[in-house]
Amino acid sequence: MINIAVFLDFKHDNLTNNSKSLLSFANKLVENNAGAQLYLCTVQNINKCYVPATVKTESITRFTIDNNVHFSSNASLDNVLSHLIDTKITHIFCTKSTTNDLIFAKLSMILNFNIITNIKSLEVENGLFHFYKSIFSGKAIAKMNGTNEPCIAIFPKGFTGDVLSMDSLDTKEIKIDHISSTYDSSSIIVEDSLIQNEIQLSEAEIVVGAGRGLKGPENWGIIENFAKKLKAATACSKPVSDLNWRPHHEHVGQTGIKINPKLYIACGISGAIQHLAGVNGSGTIVVINNDAEAPFVKHADYIILGDLFEIVPELTKLFDEA
Ligand SMILES: Cc1cc2nc3c(=O)[nH]c(=O)nc-3n(C[C@H](O)[C@H](O)[C@H](O)COP(=O)(O)OP(=O)(O)OC[C@H]3O[C@@H](n4cnc5c(N)ncnc54)[C@H](O)[C@@H]3O)c2cc1C
Repeated sequence: MINIAVFLDFKHDNLTNNSKSLLSFANKLVENNAGAQLYLCTVQNINKCYVPATVKTESITRFTIDNNVHFSSNASLDNVLSHLIDTKITHIFCTKSTTNDLIFAKLSMILNFNIITNIKSLEVENGLFHFYKSIFSGKAIAKMNGTNEPCIAIFPKGFTGDVLSMDSLDTKEIKIDHISSTYDSSSIIVEDSLIQNEIQLSEAEIVVGAGRGLKGPENWGIIENFAKKLKAATACSKPVSDLNWRPHHEHVGQTGIKINPKLYIACGISGAIQHLAGVNGSGTIVVINNDAEAPFVKHADYIILGDLFEIVPELTKLFDEA
């Protein structure tokens, strides 16, 4: 018996794009495997939940997690744990996020489930799961053959499965079953509280990234104005977040977030291999740099050679006039 719990993320009661892809993917998997069951769950404080009409479930379980999920005892996850055990969940699917990393690292230990990360895809054959994992910073795909052991499968941000239609005609509202934690404190969403009013990096269609070429945190205004004009999210290179010029959740690359926007504009970033590992899934890459020899130049679709302190405000002005 395969029982899959899919943990979904929402922004203002709407499924995030990553969660839409994950849900569509899990639904297809369940449709094609007789006897498999789909359970929807969330740790987010949602008021309404709409899912594609073809999804074979009529409710979602919303958990309240204890505020001290970072540091507290396992008791903070008691409610999630007992639900997963009661419903005999064999597989947990979620997308990568700060909150999910914290929750599922703990749950994997308590439940004794394996954790498999960076999943690109998976197939089920005679009840055996074959996982396809991204390795070497996305340069190769590894196939992990046939395991039917219970596991937690963490899909990267930017995971793209077939997305089912979310047009209002093809959508249904489902019931929310709320389960409070024993501590009954309000839920937390680490990332949401950090970036409430911004466009989420992993969801953004346009990203403006900036690096050490900006010289200091006091100069970020030009990047923020430009991003605002383009309705883009902002990102940064690792040294920039290490220096505390920008918050850590903006750091993209091998050791940061991996992004797949339609357009990535890199300002004053040299394009080291570790940075490229996080942005090479972008549709179009535009590089603004004053060094024609910078490694990024070889990987860009378009290059604007010159001083970013002149170019970025000029580009912003063009959008003002448009
Ligand atoms: C194990 C490991 C993991 C790492 N992981 C990551 C990671 O995840 N993400 C990441 O980003 N890095 C990572 N790094 C660091 C990486 O190797 C680079 O050091 C880093 O990406 C460089 O950051 P940067 O491009 O902002 O700075 P720099 O390399 O200093 O580049 C600044 C660029 O700005 C340009 N510039 C300067 N002034 C101007 C101007 N006025 N106008 C236009 N252009 C200008 C310069 O020509 C230069 O190309 C990692 C390193 C290691 C060893």
